[in-house]
Amino acid sequence: MLIRPPKLIRTIYPSFIWSFPKETDGLFLTFDDGPCPQVTPWVLDQLDEYGAKATFFCIGKNVEQYPELFGEIVRRGHAVGSHTYSHIPGWRLHPDDYVQDVDMAAELIKSNLYRPPYAKITRRQADILSLRYNIVMWNILSRDYNRKLGHKACARNVLPYLSPGTITVFHDSMKASKNLWYVLPKTLEAVSKAGWKCKPILI
Ligand SMILES: [Zn+2]
Repeated sequence: MLIRPPKLIRTIYPSFIWSFPKETDGLFLTFDDGPCPQVTPWVLDQLDEYGAKATFFCIGKNVEQYPELFGEIVRRGHAVGSHTYSHIPGWRLHPDDYVQDVDMAAELIKSNLYRPPYAKITRRQADILSLRYNIVMWNILSRDYNRKLGHKACARNVLPYLSPGTITVFHDSMKASKNLWYVLPKTLEAVSKAGWKCKPILI
């Protein structure tokens, strides 16, 4: 069970953001890997239904392919962050090549937020990117992308852990959609019942 990020990664990368202070009523839903025409519009409608705001960590090449959908995310008041141009894991790449890919995405997305795909980023890459971006991780991982995971099991990865200050990862991707259709409405319902608010990440 690695629903919460391993302590080791937290210790190695203390400058990354894993959660926010608990003092407020806000919590933070995030969606990686979009925009995706089959899934993102549905996510946006669900969020609107509950007056929820979120943060979308977009892949640069998807933004290039679906600029109108990307514009729609911003127009509806959500925050956006970069998730590289080509969704590459950093571990096997030279820092220069990795940073170039991240910067290419940031030019399209125009955000100071960054989230590394697969959480695979080397210390050197993290050091360089921390100077340019706020690197936002999570403390609730839904594993919605896992095809072997049933939608109820996926909900159990999220619902018991929701509380103010938490950062939850979902994916607006085809792969995750089979779990998301169930888990996202349940999550929004739970947040609203508890009297909390889903807020965009603005740093
Ligand atoms: Zn990703």
